[in-house]
Amino acid sequence: MDIGAHVDQADPIAEAQARNAPHVQFFLGDPQGYKGPELQYAGGAEGLRADAEAAGIGLYVHAPYIVNVATTNNRIRIPSRKLLQQHVDAAAAIGARGLIVHGGHVNKDDDPEKGFDNWRKAIEATDLKLPLLIENTAGGDNAMTRYLERIGRVWDAIAPTEQADLVGFCLDTCHAHAGGNSLETVVEDVLKITGRIDLVHCNDSRDEFDSGADRHANLGAGKVDPDLLAAVVRDAGAPVVLETPGGASEHTADADWLRERGL
Ligand SMILES: [Zn+2]
Repeated sequence: MDIGAHVDQADPIAEAQARNAPHVQFFLGDPQGYKGPELQYAGGAEGLRADAEAAGIGLYVHAPYIVNVATTNNRIRIPSRKLLQQHVDAAAAIGARGLIVHGGHVNKDDDPEKGFDNWRKAIEATDLKLPLLIENTAGGDNAMTRYLERIGRVWDAIAPTEQADLVGFCLDTCHAHAGGNSLETVVEDVLKITGRIDLVHCNDSRDEFDSGADRHANLGAGKVDPDLLAAVVRDAGAPVVLETPGGASEHTADADWLRERGL
């Protein structure tokens, strides 16, 4: 199984090599800001693309957390769409395998239908130059991708769009657990809806099942049943990105934790 990690973006190749990882994930710029992507790699986009290819390292980009294309709030949705396109462009320029984005949410009193339709509009308005991987999230009552039923509605909304084939799914194990989705069936349940899992964010959770909290823990150090965590990774059969606390040594220990379980 290919196991990588979320790393600092300044030199993703060195970060991958420090973890003996075949791929890494990183942010391009401030994950909480609207400023747009920024690439810190000394060789620029072309250099990173060429150097990663030469080193055999796969790249994934995580969009900023603040991107929320589902919301009915124009002052968030419109800049979110712009940020999404900018990140698609920047991720494609470095040859990334995918851009990961959270499902977003509508406001407390909003009709979730508007959020599903806003997802459709966002996909129609964005020139997807690489796979866009929508990730399940842990919290919020009006989230688009916390519960399976909502994930299904997002997929229904996107399915008729021209670029539907470029939309994939990123399954985060911490978010699934904390979001209240049984890890015993989540892979099967998601596959029934999306037909695909393109990436697994393998994280333990500091919080209880259905707590709604998004606090990642190192593998075996949180509240997720270790056997279930390993089974989800195995059954998903997709590349893995660890988004666990710490740096190279902690990520190496987490990768070893998975390998000890035959992954
Ligand atoms: Zn994640």
